[in-house]
Amino acid sequence: MGRRRRRVREPGYVWWGGFGVLLVAAVLMTSWRLALIALLGWCLYEFSLVPTVCRVMTRQGFACHEPVRGRLFACSSAHQQVKNDALWGAVRLPNPFRREAVPDPNRDTGVVVYSPNVRARLADNDRNVLALATAGMIVTVVAAVLGLST
Ligand SMILES: [Zn+2]
Repeated sequence: MGRRRRRVREPGYVWWGGFGVLLVAAVLMTSWRLALIALLGWCLYEFSLVPTVCRVMTRQGFACHEPVRGRLFACSSAHQQVKNDALWGAVRLPNPFRREAVPDPNRDTGVVVYSPNVRARLADNDRNVLALATAGMIVTVVAAVLGLST
């Protein structure tokens, strides 16, 4: 269903298979460097490669179902703006790049209007995975720095 309209995308388990192989190899070779590479790969995958959907709420309150790559990204610049706000909101900071003067190109009249704050709320799943991936990146950087200095 809808297969013809959408670009062909690999199923998620292809990626997981790759991470699994890397992890098993890391254990077998007792190589923390390889484990680190697997962790880094997973973080980058969740940030920018995972096949997912946009999930930004439209003004009418429906979640956008356009396919996107990466939990950080949205299907269009309008939705990306909303999503950026959501990402900053997830770390409880106002978006420093927000251009207040620009009107929402997505705006509608005559329908129930959801404020950007409501629309931008990240799904729990996305927020948790992004938090994990961020933690993973920090671990990777710290371990790489420690590894380089010894
Ligand atoms: Zn969208």
